[in-house]
Amino acid sequence: MKNIYLVKYGEIAIKGKNRYLFEDALLSNIRSSIKKLGKFHIKKEQGRILIEPEDKDVDKDEVIEQLKKVFGIVAICPGIKNEEISMDSIKETALYYMKNICQKNQYTFKVETRRSDKRFPLNSMEISRDVGAYLLKNMNGQLSVDVHSPQIRLNIELRNSVYVYSMVIPGPGGMPVGTNGKAMLLLSGGIDSPVAGWMIAKRGVEIGAVYFESPPYTSERAKQKVVDLARTIATYTGKMKLFVVPFTKIQMEIYEKCPHDQLTIIMRRMMMKIAERLAKEENALGLITGESIGQVASQTIQSLAVTNAAVELPVFRPLIGFDKEEIVQIAKKINTYEISILPYEDCCTIFVPKHPETKPKLEYILQSEKSLDNMESLLEEAIANKEIIMIE
Ligand code: ATP
Ligand code: MG
Repeated sequence: MKNIYLVKYGEIAIKGKNRYLFEDALLSNIRSSIKKLGKFHIKKEQGRILIEPEDKDVDKDEVIEQLKKVFGIVAICPGIKNEEISMDSIKETALYYMKNICQKNQYTFKVETRRSDKRFPLNSMEISRDVGAYLLKNMNGQLSVDVHSPQIRLNIELRNSVYVYSMVIPGPGGMPVGTNGKAMLLLSGGIDSPVAGWMIAKRGVEIGAVYFESPPYTSERAKQKVVDLARTIATYTGKMKLFVVPFTKIQMEIYEKCPHDQLTIIMRRMMMKIAERLAKEENALGLITGESIGQVASQTIQSLAVTNAAVELPVFRPLIGFDKEEIVQIAKKINTYEISILPYEDCCTIFVPKHPETKPKLEYILQSEKSLDNMESLLEEAIANKEIIMIE
């Protein structure tokens, strides 16, 4: 008998050729998420993925913690496997498993059987009934049956082997990263953008990230915070490229030449332009930001429209209709919150105007930008001076 993990994933939405892409990507993402924990056999098995540790002392909780971060997984079921398929081996496996989890305690239970091998002489109901009776008889009165809300729901699956499990641990859902193209996240040190990136990655999109820094107004610590946020996101997405782009000169130029109430919006547009160029170099098909309507002056619907007009690529804003409290809840769940609230300065807070324009009109903004005659070369210079950090 071997310890195994049966991984369940969403089947309904994926049909035909996409199904193989989905399964292969999931398999490979699972592989890289647990490879540092030991050696595993990982294979597809009739609508499930089966993970078998090769060595016995692998840390089970660690494996589960890792799998809980692999998008595409609906549930993780740690259990045991017996390669011999017969009524005797099913009973023996079930008893072994139950003894292990019950120890000396009393429980109510129910047996549920699923069999994909229809050649087996007994049907699912008959197997459940026989195994239930066998357990009642052989567990020294520790068990009683409760078919409605049992404490232990013993699942038996008959596939190429016998699988027995009772725990069904929810996975993160979503789609495997890599099955839905690539997008570039504008990652600040705030609460919102890491959540936005996580949400898009959850739909299977591979993520690259860009952070605009403004030395000497922003510090190394502020940058380190963004690196730490990217690392936290990467625990879900796998490796990610982070571009750190120097933004001070661009901000200074805007500060000198444009009306101060328009600083934020013009700055935001320049960020978008640079992010778009990096996205195109990286074959990313969209940009991602953490904006939500009305949160600050630069996120009114008018400002968002003017920001959008700076680029051709679609801008994905998964938090657009979220309240701050809802965003905070996700940030806490994905472990970015504690990093995001560290009090380091941010490039936008330094050049914040006293009275920011809340209803900018594109024609006036374009008019102001005309005075930025040096901007194209500044944008190019910023991109040329980017630092690339590989986040693992
Ligand atoms: P966040 O919490 O994500 O920083 P925010 O509420 O502070 O968002 P803004 O500062 O207006 O909002 O920024 C809006 C969006 O612009 C951010 O969500 C992020 O996607 C992007 N952004 C802002 N500053 C930077 C930066 N320095 N580098 C990269 N992207 C940034
Ligand atoms: Mg911010």
